[in-house]
Order: sequence, then C-alpha cells, then structure tokens
Amino acid sequence: MFDQSAIDPLRHASVSDRGHFIDGRSVPSMSGETLDVVSPIDGRAFTRIASGSPTDVDRAVTAARKTFEDGRWSCAAPAQRKKVLLKLADLIERDALELAVLGVRDNGTEISMAYKAEALSAAATFRYYAEALDKVYGEVAPTADSVLALVHKAPVGVVGAIVPWNFPLMIGAWKLAPALAMGNSVVLKPAETASLSLLRIAELASEAGLPDGVLNVVTGSGAVVGEALALSMEVDILVFTGSGATGRRLLEYSARSNLKRCYLELGGKSPNIVFNDAADLEKAAKVSAAGIFRNSGQVCVAGSRLLVQEEIHDDFVAALCRQAEALTVGDPLDLSSQIGAVHSLTQLESHLAFVETAEAEGAERRTGGGRILQDTGGYYMAPTVMTGVKPSDTIAQKEVFGPVLAVTSFKDEAEAIRMANASDYGLAAGVWTADLGRAHRMIRAVRSGVIHVNTYGGSDLTVPLGGMKQSGNGHDKSLHALDKYVDLKTAWIQL
Ligand code: ADP
Repeated sequence: MFDQSAIDPLRHASVSDRGHFIDGRSVPSMSGETLDVVSPIDGRAFTRIASGSPTDVDRAVTAARKTFEDGRWSCAAPAQRKKVLLKLADLIERDALELAVLGVRDNGTEISMAYKAEALSAAATFRYYAEALDKVYGEVAPTADSVLALVHKAPVGVVGAIVPWNFPLMIGAWKLAPALAMGNSVVLKPAETASLSLLRIAELASEAGLPDGVLNVVTGSGAVVGEALALSMEVDILVFTGSGATGRRLLEYSARSNLKRCYLELGGKSPNIVFNDAADLEKAAKVSAAGIFRNSGQVCVAGSRLLVQEEIHDDFVAALCRQAEALTVGDPLDLSSQIGAVHSLTQLESHLAFVETAEAEGAERRTGGGRILQDTGGYYMAPTVMTGVKPSDTIAQKEVFGPVLAVTSFKDEAEAIRMANASDYGLAAGVWTADLGRAHRMIRAVRSGVIHVNTYGGSDLTVPLGGMKQSGNGHDKSLHALDKYVDLKTAWIQL
C-alpha cells in the first residue's frame, strides 16, 4: 500500500487545463469553451476541462469510425489486442496512486477506497478482459450434413460510453475493457465533474500502443456532449451508467436516430433485510453501515433501505447508529478519514432536502442529517439514519445517492419480501439470517440483480452486475459483459 507521505505531494500538484482526447491527441474544444473543475474537498476550482460541443463529438466519432473501418484494431490478431491491453493494465498499476489522487480531487471518494476500487480495480478489469479475449470462439451450428453453418462473433463498431462521477475509473473500465477487447472503437463521455482520471487512462492507452482513434474521450455536459453522442448516426451501441431520467432519454435518442442498442445501469433503492435469527447482529450492523455509508452512499448498489424484523429493531438500530457515529468523515485524501466528501454542492443540498422531506412525512432522524465541516469549504455530510420510514415514503422510493439510510420494521418473511419488492428498482439486496432455507427462499423471491447473504456489498470481476426492473438492462463485469460488444453473424454454407 502507501502512507500519507506518498499522498501529500500529489494532493496539490498542479493540473494543467485538459482538452478532449481525440484521434490520439489532446485537443481543445472547437468553441474554445471550458468548464471549471471544482474539488469537493474544499469547494475550490483547481483546473479546467474542455466543454465539448456536438462538433467535438462528431470529430471523435469520425476518428473512431475511421479506425474501426481501417481494421488496425478491429481486425488485429487477438494476441496483439491482448498485448496492448495487458500493457495498459501494467501502466495503470504503475500510476495507480497518482490516478487515485487525481480522481479523488475531483470526485471526493476516500483515498484508500479510490486506490483499490478505482485504480487497482481498473487495472484488474483491463487484465481480465485482455486475458479473456483470445478465449472467445465462434460456433459451428448442429445443422444437417449438407450444410455448414458458422456463427461468427464480430466487433460491432463504434461504442458510445457515458459514465457517472461516483466511480469513474472502475465503471469506465467495466465498459472500455470488454468493448476494446472485442475490437470495437470507443467514444467515452465522462461525467463533467469527474473527467480527469479517465482522460489520463486514454493517454496511458496510447502509451500502451492502442492505435490513434480507437479510444476517444470528449468532456463536457451531459445535455450537450452526451446527447450528441447518443443521437449520432455513427454510434452503434450506447453503454451507460447513471440516473433513470438520463437512461430514459438515451432510449429516446436511440429511437430518434439509428436504433442503436442501449445498455443501461440505472441505480437502485436496495433493501438490506435483517431477520431476528441472524447469527451476529453486531457484525450485521457494522457491515450494513459500511454498505450504505462508504463513498458517502454514492454507490449504485448501496443498501439504502434497511428492513429489520420487529423484535430486534430497537437494538439493531442502536448498534447501527453507534457504527455510523464511529465513522470518521473528513478530507478524503487523509488516510484517517473513513468517509470522504459528498461529490458536489448540488448533491449535498439534494440529500439535505431528502432528510427534510422524510421528517415531514413522519420519519425520525436518529443520527446525522446535517452538513458538517463547512469551514473547510468542502461538502461533507454526517452519516444519517432515519427510522419509522413507511414503504411508500419518498425516502423509501427515491434513490438519494447519499449517506442516508431509511429504516423500516417488518413482522415476518412474507412482509419482508413484499416490502423488498415494493420498489421500481431491482439492483441489489442483502439478507441476514442463520436459516439456510430462508436464505434460499429470499434469493428466489427478492427481485434484484445481486443478493448478498450474511454480508453486504462483496463482489469481484468474475460475476455479472446488472439490474432487474427499472435498474437497467445488460450486465457489466464477468464474461457475460462481452456479449454486448459483439454482433453474431451467421454464415450458411450449402455443401
Ligand atoms: P447522476 O445523477 O449520477 O449524475 P446522470 O444520469 O445525470 O446521473 O449522469 C450520468 C452521466 O450521464 C454523466 O456523464 C452525465 O453527463 C450524462 N448525462 C446527463 N444528462 C444527459 C443527457 N441528456 N444525455 C446524455 N448524457 C447525459
């Protein structure tokens, strides 16, 4: 790992104004416009990024299309693609701390988590798909002897990837690595408030030997750059992680343009269900607190609805509040902070408004609920626990995407299942019980893409992540993710 003395020289390192990354080079916006990058650590601007326009998107898409058509990457031998992506993984690892600190400066995640879940996890993701890409075979179909039917897996073309600010490198890598592994070209649009580390990844990809134009990054606002990318007639697939509202728009843009395939990961309101037969309630309280409060709750799979069985409700809430209050919130670049900053002032204000609404609807604030460390100029919020939340309350239905936990009690298994499923979302869930039969019944009954049993939040690259219901379609991670980035082409040969 590293210690504080390795972080401190990087925390104020000057960051020059950053352009887009198009066709292997950093270029300013055609309009010359820029956006300030404000750090949530202290509320101060520390650099600027290019503010893209539809013209910049066109340039990037044209570069991506050109390299896709010329075959330098799309037709390269798998062994060659593998070599480049493995080298990229090595370079990300080489620069992991620098990348993590840069990312924390614009997104606010606590550094030890950013180092592992952002930089190292991005390196691991590129390595995983690099290792996988030359194990993907086509098929010979079981037809009559008079015919030979082949199923080819071909790269699709130009991938538009739109990613959010909460884990830009990790989520970015989940899209980029399988897309590039399968031979596609990519235009990436990072969140306007978390672009710096992904711009650096594009430079490292060039250093690793990725041909110019295969990976392009256009920065700027969602409404302008994201919309232009999603409307482009030359983008074949759109992969997205972000809000449901934007996801809906992307489907509309697809319908209005070329019917590009859209794969959406849209967040959740995930139930974490604690039964009174759970083996270790202290451990359950500790893990459940981490499951909602890490990265200030800005995690799509956060266990933001806690459902607790009636008999243990009061004791469990008390244990959970103790855990929440014991968490150190502060400067995310300080290793002693367990929870960093809320990403932006807009987010912080939205969280505080959710707490107010919850109280107005009858919930009780048991701990937290307010802005803290305001004198730093940064955006920090105390871990917040709200009890007495009704399943229909705003805070039980809407994704807060902040350090706010909504607690509801239930009587029995049937009621727990009803409450767990009473949501438009279906991304993640947790169940705490010592009863094996109940654990398996819950796994079947709760409609979510992932369900944790006697833990919350564990995962790795080998398993898919994707949602049911309005949490999205398609999957990131695992070998299943490769399916999004290939076209199946049948050759029917009369013998
Ligand atoms: P969040 O609430 O996590 O910020 P958003 O959906 O607003 O979620 O943002 C996720 C990504 O979608 C960001 O890169 C953002 O710029 C982009 N985005 C936002 N609005 C649009 C839009 N109208 N069209 C395309 N992309 C958009």
